[in-house]
Parts: sequence; structure tokens; C-alpha cells
Amino acid sequence: MLDHIEKLLLLQERDRQIAQLEAELADIDPHRRFALQTLEAAKNDLESLKSRVKKLETERNKLELEVKEKKQLIEKYSLQQFQTKKNPEYQALAHEIENCKRDISNIEDRELEVLEQIDATQKQVAAAAETLKQLSQRVEQQLETFAHRETSLKQRLAELARGRAELAASVDADLLPRYERLRKSKGQRAIVGIEHSVCGGCHVRLPAQVVVGCKASQEIMICPNCGRILYYTHDMNTAAAE
Ligand SMILES: [Zn+2]
Repeated sequence: MLDHIEKLLLLQERDRQIAQLEAELADIDPHRRFALQTLEAAKNDLESLKSRVKKLETERNKLELEVKEKKQLIEKYSLQQFQTKKNPEYQALAHEIENCKRDISNIEDRELEVLEQIDATQKQVAAAAETLKQLSQRVEQQLETFAHRETSLKQRLAELARGRAELAASVDADLLPRYERLRKSKGQRAIVGIEHSVCGGCHVRLPAQVVVGCKASQEIMICPNCGRILYYTHDMNTAAAE
């Protein structure tokens, strides 16, 4: 194998490692955002349950006040009954008192329902608070793991970048710009093998003289179709697949 090719393959492998670590690094942030969103949602759940309890308690107080007012009315009507001497007026007041009693009974039924709702919602609050507590711990651990991972990936990337500069400097000065251009236009595979006599990049069948040129390892061969740099190793089978 040409020395140029060997160095270029090392550089390409280094670039592949760098790209992989960069992808892993880029993947951390969405995961971190998701963890924080989950935590935020759990906090919101708890808050909305708490405010539901407050609303129900306000309603309960309102109902209690209504009962109190109805009882005061009954007292007032009873007093008026006691003072009146006219029978129709007495009957009318008795009717009013009955109405008040019926209202009180209805309000107390409603109050009982509200109390049950308060009880059930308070249980939900306790469960949501426990969920939030556990989730907070978990998210805290996750964030720590993400931060560690980020630091170590950045360190590793810095090491790889230093090594890459050395590798790039060792590559033939004419070949390097072609490689860099190919990497921009074709992605990670700029230099490819010729297994089954097809270009390992675009998979188009290579002309016989290109395959022979690759095998001879005397000069750099280029895929006439996609422009990628080609290389040959002895373990490649160059018999064309039908
Ligand atoms: Zn090609």
C-alpha cells in the first residue's frame, strides 16, 4: 500500500472517531433538556393539585358560610313567628323556615361531596410530592452523569484534535486538500476500498485500469464517477460480483 494512502486512512479513521464523539456530545443536550422538562412537568402537576385543594377549601368555606346565613335566617323567622299574631303571616314564616332547612340539607350534602374531593385530592398531592421527590433525585444524578460525560468527551476530543493535526501534517500536501474537500462533500468516507471492483463510496463499477492501478500501488487512483480516493488491500476480492 502506498505510504500516502496509509496515512490518509489513519487520518480518516481519526476523523471518524472525532465525528462519533462529536455526535455523542451533541446528543447530551437534548437528553438533559428532556430530563429537565420531565422534572418541570412533575412540579406543575404538584402545583396544580395543590391549587385544586385550595379551590375546594374555598368552596367548602363558602358553603359553611351559606349554612350559617341560612341558620341566622331561621332564627330571624322564628323570632318573627313568635312576635306575630296573624295566622297567615305565621304560616308564611313557617314555610320560609322549611325552605331554609331544605336549603341547609342540600348545602350540607354538597359540602360532604367537597370534603370527599378534598380528601382524595390531598392523597393525590402526597403521591405527586413523592413522585417529584424521587424524580428530582434521579434527574440530579442524570445531570451529574451528563456533566461528567460532557467533560470527558471534550477532553477526549481535544486529545483527538491534537493527534489529528499531527496526522494531517504527515499526509501528502497535494492529497490533503482533496481529502478535505471530499470529506466536506461526501461525508466521512473520502477514501474507500475497491471490494468486488466497485467504488466503496458510490458503488459504481470501476474501469479495469483503475483496479489494476490500485493494485499496483504506484500512484493515487481516483473513482472516475464520484472522485473519491481509492485504495486496495490484499484481503479485498476484486472479482466483479455479477
Ligand atoms: Zn465512486
